[in-house]
Amino acid sequence: MTLRQSPLRVRVLRSGSSGNAILVEAGLTRFLVDAGLTAEAVLREIGEDGRVPRLDAILLTHEHDDHARGAAAVARATGAVVLANEPTLRAAGPLLAGVRVELFRPGRPFALGSVEVTSFPLPHDAAEPVGFMLSRDGVRATIATDLGEVTDELLARACGADLFVLEANYDLGLMAVSSYPWFLKNRIVGAQGHLSNDGAARAAVAAADGRPQTICLVHLSEANNLAPLARDTVRAALDAAEARGVRVEAVRPNRGGSWWTASPAPGAR
Ligand SMILES: [Zn+2]
Ligand SMILES: [Zn+2]
Repeated sequence: MTLRQSPLRVRVLRSGSSGNAILVEAGLTRFLVDAGLTAEAVLREIGEDGRVPRLDAILLTHEHDDHARGAAAVARATGAVVLANEPTLRAAGPLLAGVRVELFRPGRPFALGSVEVTSFPLPHDAAEPVGFMLSRDGVRATIATDLGEVTDELLARACGADLFVLEANYDLGLMAVSSYPWFLKNRIVGAQGHLSNDGAARAAVAAADGRPQTICLVHLSEANNLAPLARDTVRAALDAAEARGVRVEAVRPNRGGSWWTASPAPGAR
C-alpha cells in the first residue's frame, strides 16, 4: 500500500465527562481532536515504546476543561501546534500560554497534512464551540460532541459521512431519577447543553444515506446513561427508518474505543 492510499484511521482515546480526546491518523499525518486528559494519560495512549510520540497538531472543539485540560502540556511535549478558533483561544487564555497556536476560520477548510479539516458551529455553552468534518481521498469522518440540540448545519456535515462520531450524553429517563442537582440537569438538557440518546438517534437517522456507515456514540454520562441503552436507542431508530447499513458503537463512559479504519474507495483520489 502506498502512502497515498493509506487509510484514514480514528480512535477515541477517552470520552465522557472526565475527559475527551480522539486520535486521527492518515499516512504520515497524526493529530488529536481535543486533549481533555492529563498530558501523561494522552502520551501513554499515543506513545510507542517509551519514545516521545509524533504528533502534528491538537484541534480544539472548545475550551471546556474536559476537552482542553492537557492540550498545552501535550503540545509542549510533542511540538504539536494547537489549532482553534479565535474565541476558543481567547477563552482558553492562560491554559495555552507559551504554546504554538494557530487559528482557523469558521467553515473555511484547511489542510492538516493529508487531511482536509472543516469546522462547523455547535450549540453549546462555550465561547464558540465547533465540530469537525475530516476528509481524505473521498473518505469522510464527522465529529460532533457537546451539543444541546441537532442543527441543520450538523446534519449537512454528517449526512453521508463514513464515520459519524456523535455525542449521546444522557437518557432522559435515567437523568430524571439520577442524583444530579436540578440546576445541572437543566443545563445539560438545555439547547446549549448536551445531546440525549433520542437526539443522537434523530441525527443518526438523518445522516444515513444508504451506504455502509459507522456511528460511534461518545461523551456518555456515567450517571445518566448506559452504553447498551444508547446503542439500542440509536439502533432502534435506524431500524425503524430501514437504515440497516449503519453500524452503531457506543464508547462506555470514561473509556476508549477501538480503531475505525476506512481506505479510500478504488479510483478515488
Ligand atoms: Zn463542553
Ligand atoms: Zn465535554
